[in-house]
Amino acid sequence: MTRVRLLLIGPPGVGKGTQAGIISRKFGIPQIATGDMLRQEVKNASDLGTKAKAYMDRGELVPDSLVISMLEQRLQGKDAGKGFILDGFPRTVAQADALEIKFRELGIDRFLVIEFKVNEESIITRLSARRVCSKCGKIYNMLTEPPLKDGLCNECGSSLYQRDDDKETTIRERFKVYNSKTAPLTEYYANKGLLKTVRADGSIESINSDVTAIIEKAFHG
Ligand code: AMP
Repeated sequence: MTRVRLLLIGPPGVGKGTQAGIISRKFGIPQIATGDMLRQEVKNASDLGTKAKAYMDRGELVPDSLVISMLEQRLQGKDAGKGFILDGFPRTVAQADALEIKFRELGIDRFLVIEFKVNEESIITRLSARRVCSKCGKIYNMLTEPPLKDGLCNECGSSLYQRDDDKETTIRERFKVYNSKTAPLTEYYANKGLLKTVRADGSIESINSDVTAIIEKAFHG
């Protein structure tokens, strides 16, 4: 099998992070998630994190220049030489163009883009029902896994809260941003013959078996 290099594209809450994690373990390649990297920068209160936070809280994209240089540096990491999964990058045509230049510089000429497709309203309902424990971080879903006592964590009894970017208005904003800025990338990559599309409404296992089959077919030789 040749080096597996994947770009995952999909709207917020589609489960691409979950799939990226499974593929990462299965194929022994790093999952490079720009959202996680940015959240870490915010936590560290770095210069980048301070600049990124306001955009993230509003559900907007962090400016291209900031995200592109962060990702370019990450791709130089030794572990990325074995292959990688980009989870949440690129999200704009400008990012895709910059990535193409970086790939050329790194001698990368083979990669695949997987688009995850879902019904928007069902994701909005699911995401806006998510609550997180303020102390231990345990995640609940008010529709499918509500806490035993209203508003309190089953594990530690602390209060639950809703992340700013899980609020319905923010989720709708993130979808709007996805449809206007990121969705055009599917045509961009389809025109290059690099796009595969997976329906992401099913179970984690069935989606993963579709994704694995695509990877094995594309990189087996
Ligand atoms: P995610 O965890 O991938 O949903 O990302 C969370 C937030 O981080 C997004 O709503 C954006 O504000 C920001 N972000 C993550 N990746 C990118 C990217 N490639 N370009 C711009 N902003 C990004």
